[in-house]
Amino acid sequence: AAKREARGNYRQFEANMAEALRMRSTLERDLRRALTAGEIVPYYQPLIALDTGRLSGFEVLARWNHPRYGLMAPAAFIPLAEEIGRIGDLFRQLLAAACADARQWPSEMGISMNVSPTQFADPELASQILMTLHDTGIAPKRLELEITESALVDKVSSAHLTLTTLREVGVTVALDDFGTGYSNLRHLSDLPVDRVKIDRLFVERARQDIENWKIVRAIVQFAHALNLETTAEGIEIAEAADILRDVGCDVGQGYFFGRPQSAAVTSAWLTELVRNPIGVLPRLAL
Ligand code: C2E
Ligand code: MG
Ligand code: MG
Ligand code: MG
Repeated sequence: AAKREARGNYRQFEANMAEALRMRSTLERDLRRALTAGEIVPYYQPLIALDTGRLSGFEVLARWNHPRYGLMAPAAFIPLAEEIGRIGDLFRQLLAAACADARQWPSEMGISMNVSPTQFADPELASQILMTLHDTGIAPKRLELEITESALVDKVSSAHLTLTTLREVGVTVALDDFGTGYSNLRHLSDLPVDRVKIDRLFVERARQDIENWKIVRAIVQFAHALNLETTAEGIEIAEAADILRDVGCDVGQGYFFGRPQSAAVTSAWLTELVRNPIGVLPRLAL
């Protein structure tokens, strides 16, 4: 009986596998089409200077407006885009769209773009970015690139060359998800970065246990000692925003300040903010 059950389980497993593979190949085909059809769109999440409470810009977060599945989160398609070699296309489209949107915003608003480690294999990355900035009339200093430590583990990698080229003209670089990866503290001062983004995990943990704020404070102090700015992700409540400001964290991001939203909502929201700088969101001003 046990044997029969095991065989049954295995058949179920096979069926599930087959189903998963079918799903994946459908998604893969859809993704190739989506890139041509413009279904991948930028969503914008506010970044707030914690000392003044002012809006400093937005992180650009990819969404897939899927005709059948609706709005899809990046976890469902970014890894796939990387695997099938289309992450570069996806990035170029998002950057062009974000630059076009940013041109309609107040000129001090920054945009932060996520870059996959695999994109650094492309020797044209820096020149393509500069071309897009030029064509859309966005000053390089308004652009920040968010990279993960895995893009930089190899010291002589092309990532260093690409980022150095871009930083020379004013583009800034943030180390995303800081604290979750290799976090080789010894090397942090040699990396071509301007900012660390403290992973959401630390802010969440700190909420559960007050002792953990000490870790966040230590990261902020450590980053500042290396002349790096700091951003904290995952700020969901007012208390977290207050504590992060008190420990000297420069920028905050999270549902407390605003969720990622479409270009249309963002632009309406900015118009409202310009008209009435106080009152659109708690503690938020232009
Ligand atoms: P990330 O770069 O660390 O982005 C922050 C993520 O945290 C976003 O998830 C955002 O919606 C979420 N978040 C922000 N504030 C809060 C909060 O207060 N609470 C909670 N629970 N979550 C919050 P999202 O949009 O699902 O993106 C997930 C990840 O996908 C990003 O993490 C980034 O690694 C990747 N990603 C997104 N867009 C792109 C892209 O255009 N290119 C690449 N290569 N990766 C992207
Ligand atoms: Mg990011
Ligand atoms: Mg992050
Ligand atoms: Mg993260």
